[in-house]
Amino acid sequence: MPHYQVLALVSLDAVDPEILRHLSTAIAKAFTLPVQILPPKPLPSHTFHVTRNQHYSTQLLEYLLACEDHDGLFRVLAITAVDLYIPIFTFVFGEAQLDGKAAIISTFRPQGEASGVRAPHSILMNRLLKLSLHELGHTFSLPHCRQPGCLMGFAANLEQLDKKNLEFCDYCRILLADYFNRNGL
Ligand SMILES: [Zn+2]
Ligand SMILES: [Zn+2]
Repeated sequence: MPHYQVLALVSLDAVDPEILRHLSTAIAKAFTLPVQILPPKPLPSHTFHVTRNQHYSTQLLEYLLACEDHDGLFRVLAITAVDLYIPIFTFVFGEAQLDGKAAIISTFRPQGEASGVRAPHSILMNRLLKLSLHELGHTFSLPHCRQPGCLMGFAANLEQLDKKNLEFCDYCRILLADYFNRNGL
């Protein structure tokens, strides 16, 4: 197992580079892992649902896994400006593979586009970081958590997202440390 595990961020189509830089620094700090920003990738067209005007996030995860240049990477977190869905929900903030390699988040809802009121930059960044750590938490095997305020709590809307703390609860922290130990991280 390689000692040097790189977590990569990749934007699907254009995303503000400032957002990527900010997230890469904060994610590296949160997990004590090296984070690399990859060149942007085109958003595929087959994941687009015309009637919903959204992209199917599960198919985007498959797309990320099929990219050969992602082969040597430890984790890939994609960021996109388009709205995401899975069939049972109106929208999703993001999705990840449990104990898998790929995760994705969208800036669409956090930016307030759906309500027509654009979120201030600091609030947007706070939301995106929460979503990034939450989805990456899933890739490190963490399930949803019911501890009040925990990052791994399920958030169905912005209000619930904003109520979460920017940290994992003690219980999730132990699970995370255990996962990292077991995987030599
Ligand atoms: Zn989740
Ligand atoms: Zn928790």
